[in-house]
Amino acid sequence: MSTLLAVIGHPIAHSLSPRMQTAAIDTLGLDAAYLAIDVAPERLARTVRDLARLGARGFNVTLPHKEAIVASLDEVEGEARAIGAVNTVVREGDRWVGANTDARGLVRSIEEQGIPIAGRRATVIGAGGAARAAAYGLAIAGAAKVTIAARRRDRADALARALAPACGTTTIAAAVIDPVRMRRDLAHTDLLVQASSATMRAEDGEELARALPIDAMPEDAAVVELVYRPRRTAVLAIAEARGLRTVGGLGMLVHQGALALERWLGVQAPIAAMRSALEAG
Ligand code: NDP
Repeated sequence: MSTLLAVIGHPIAHSLSPRMQTAAIDTLGLDAAYLAIDVAPERLARTVRDLARLGARGFNVTLPHKEAIVASLDEVEGEARAIGAVNTVVREGDRWVGANTDARGLVRSIEEQGIPIAGRRATVIGAGGAARAAAYGLAIAGAAKVTIAARRRDRADALARALAPACGTTTIAAAVIDPVRMRRDLAHTDLLVQASSATMRAEDGEELARALPIDAMPEDAAVVELVYRPRRTAVLAIAEARGLRTVGGLGMLVHQGALALERWLGVQAPIAAMRSALEAG
């Protein structure tokens, strides 16, 4: 085995990345392996040194290390700094460089469906790490306006304030999720991006879907879901019933992985094979 790649997290057994990246490696006929390594927080720095000693070309980083990893890196790229998290680490010479492929992965998953972002008005639901990457991604793709809507107004405000300086000409606004406010906002939203964890749980997902008057959205609007378990969330179900275009969470997962693979190996990632590997699971 000549090329070592990995994902580190704690826990890690649930990660879908090994299945997806191994499918990519097999499809491309590469002499490489992508390993899942369970790394407790106190062993993080040591594991990064070990991966360097083993000659690893790079690795993915997942919870709970996406922020703490920075202390073990030689450089953190601007996009990862803006998103406040590193999900991909690349070996460049004898240095570890931290990157984030989530934002561009989301953008690719939307644009591959022929849904434009540039000049459009977006609403992002949630104010956690995924919402931050999503809002930033929409801004770098040229969205005219991104409204961050969370159940707690202070969280939405804080995220909007933190992101705005990195978002160029995109207007970043904050809102609280309540049906009256959402009806007004969604009537002027071209792209709704569900980036909260609510839709992972059936009851919370249905409650959130009730608070989002998707029927008020313009006819040519699109709804993007980041949660991929379940595959068809309450929000996606309502958007589909309304006849809107939809993008499920597997799209971002595939494309953030594809961008990482492209960074590590300089290859064109086999998107279809990666997606099939996830859909088979
Ligand atoms: P965080 O825990 O950082 O944030 C979760 C957010 O969801 C918070 O803003 C939280 O609000 C909000 N939330 C939780 N429950 C509800 C609810 N019932 N109603 C409204 N808002 C709610 O998680 P992440 O941001 O890291 O991840 C969010 C989701 O995105 C996860 O389910 C994850 O699987 C998915 N994801 C998908 C990716 C992909 O590639 N497709 C990539 C990354 C994440 P509060 O602060 O008030 O608790």
